[in-house]
Amino acid sequence: MLQSVCILGVTGSIGQSTLKILQQHPEKYSVYAVTAHSRIAELVEICKQFHPKVAVVPAAQVDSLRQLLQQANLADIEILCDEAGLIAVASHPEVDVVMAAIVGAAGLMPTLAAVQAGKRVLLANKEALVMSGDLMMQAARDHGALLLPVDSEHNAIFQCLPQNYFEVERNGQPKLGVQQILLTASGGPFLNHSLEQLHSVTPAQACKHPNWSMGQKISVDSATLMNKGLELIEACHLFAVKEQFVTVVVHPQSIIHSMVQYVDGTTLAQMGNPDMCTPIAHALAWPERLQTHVPPLDLFIHSQLNFQAPDTTRFPALKLARQAMQAGGIAPTLLNAANEIAVASFLQNQLGFTQIPEIVEQTLNHLANRAADSIETILQADQNARAFAQQCVIQTGS
Ligand code: NDP
Ligand code: MG
Repeated sequence: MLQSVCILGVTGSIGQSTLKILQQHPEKYSVYAVTAHSRIAELVEICKQFHPKVAVVPAAQVDSLRQLLQQANLADIEILCDEAGLIAVASHPEVDVVMAAIVGAAGLMPTLAAVQAGKRVLLANKEALVMSGDLMMQAARDHGALLLPVDSEHNAIFQCLPQNYFEVERNGQPKLGVQQILLTASGGPFLNHSLEQLHSVTPAQACKHPNWSMGQKISVDSATLMNKGLELIEACHLFAVKEQFVTVVVHPQSIIHSMVQYVDGTTLAQMGNPDMCTPIAHALAWPERLQTHVPPLDLFIHSQLNFQAPDTTRFPALKLARQAMQAGGIAPTLLNAANEIAVASFLQNQLGFTQIPEIVEQTLNHLANRAADSIETILQADQNARAFAQQCVIQTGS
């Protein structure tokens, strides 16, 4: 039986890697729906190649997409728009697998819809889980969704955990002999920059990651270490552990993608070349394995693996994320929203690199925390934090 796949954010870096895997396995997967935001010409090329049943774009792009699809003799592809369209395809009865690869908070409602529809959800969109944490995990349990991590570190941890880990009640404590999760971080392009040097780095430098080719937002997050902060929160929710059980280890080569330590002195690591096609293929096929083009690891080439502790003085974003996770409630939502505003402002040259965590900290200090007990509360917190962070950016810039 062909598995029918919906790719949210198909024009992005993860979306493209997903297509690469699907293309290699036409006997296993068909593409039901694809979604894009601004790259409409790229979307049309994807439609030509994969012929999905539905394409989703913002309302303002519908006319131009319709015209381009007609020109390509693809008028039979249904066009839906906006968040309602994203939710419709993510929860459509014909869909078996949803790749959640929209960047940022925009992916929250479609990802949640896929979870509530009980799909196999391949989670790349970490911001959605950071925002809605307990709610998303509860929805997965209630609706029998299979929420599988695509983020390379979380996919690695998933592979290193005991097979029956998820069948055991955990209550914030790692069980079955698991003692500690070691979340690896490359350290980003500025790992060895002084604080002085960090003040003047440019968006182009921040987007040039040493090991991974990724979208702009996550590239900046990797450079500030906010990506690791978001991943720390993501790990706590996915693996139901308190933040003190997750230790961040800087490992500049990105060969080990994360580790799990056990009480008997064992440390299990998942290793591989840094290519997102591996975790995507793993999440698609689990518990089976799919052939990919990723070459096997050559340890004679990678003869040195280094490790160090993260420096939260130069990279305070990681500390802020840990504090937000400790605080709980809407704090992670506020952190994420303020970060999205600050990163967008940095990319538009309205903010300095070291001001990104400053905006996040100001937002967390200014807005009161409360329980994240409903999706409405979370969406409101997201809006409030965006508005406040935007004000901070304007004041900082003037
Ligand atoms: P990209 O920026 O490359 O792609 C983002 C995708 O989301 C694009 O398809 C984009 O459409 C779409 N999009 C952007 N804004 C909106 C919006 N407001 N509404 C609907 N769709 C939107 O990002 P990545 O692929 O790098 O990352 C995607 C997610 O995966 C992120 O959450 C990231 O943290 C996570 N991730 C990425 C990794 C990577 O290696 N890239 C690794 C691990 C996690 P368009 O391009 O048409 O504008
Ligand atoms: Mg990652």
